[in-house]
Amino acid sequence: MSIAENICRIRENIAAAGGGRKVFLVAATKMNGAEAVREAVAAGVDACGENRVQEFLEKDALNAYAGAPRHLIGHLQRNKVNKIVGRVELIQSVDSASLLALIDRRARTLGIVQDILIEVSIAGEVQKSGAPLAELPKIMDAAAQSPGICVRGLMCIPPISTNEGSNRPYFAAMRKLFVDNQNKKCDNITMDYLSMGMTDDYQDAILEGANMIRVGTGIFGARSYPALEA
Ligand SMILES: *Cc1c(COP(=O)(O)O)cnc(C)c1O
Repeated sequence: MSIAENICRIRENIAAAGGGRKVFLVAATKMNGAEAVREAVAAGVDACGENRVQEFLEKDALNAYAGAPRHLIGHLQRNKVNKIVGRVELIQSVDSASLLALIDRRARTLGIVQDILIEVSIAGEVQKSGAPLAELPKIMDAAAQSPGICVRGLMCIPPISTNEGSNRPYFAAMRKLFVDNQNKKCDNITMDYLSMGMTDDYQDAILEGANMIRVGTGIFGARSYPALEA
């Protein structure tokens, strides 16, 4: 199957699960080359999401994203903040008040407003990225004081789905958080996007209310991770 055919099938699945609702399809482009990324953009994804700042900068210099909105979806290290703010339309992976403050400071220096999502550790897996649920109010308070950022919504990476439907309770919990925060109406918070669902579980995510999904393998095929040096 070609990249364009894959995207076509995913669009059909989105329509089936979402009942015609608008769902943003973000191509998760990590480890895929500029050529493949350009093919996906030409076939009509809504945005490209990169995991690592360095990989993003390299591919952006090659014009891999070809005018499509660019997102950072992987964990953002503090020392990379100044390299990424203002270069992407959306940073999906903000998981602490202190990281938010660094992004805010950089954005205000540049005279821009950086759109972000707050990544939530909805399954409470401590080794994974994402803000613990208990931290979320503190992060939202910080956002309300930070005119350099706009919180456009929430994102999560639930556990690898073991069987069909296994992540639905997490997606439902995210949906509830999303709606609760939507109702609060704070400064610098608009809550437009609920980003959840990947290749194995995006249909379930959409059924539970996702309006942004991030798909890698389903578009580009399996990633070939380089063999570790012996
Ligand atoms: C890789 C990745 C995806 C896509 O994963 P697939 O299972 O290949 O669809 C989505 N979100 C994030 C944050 C990722 O790192």
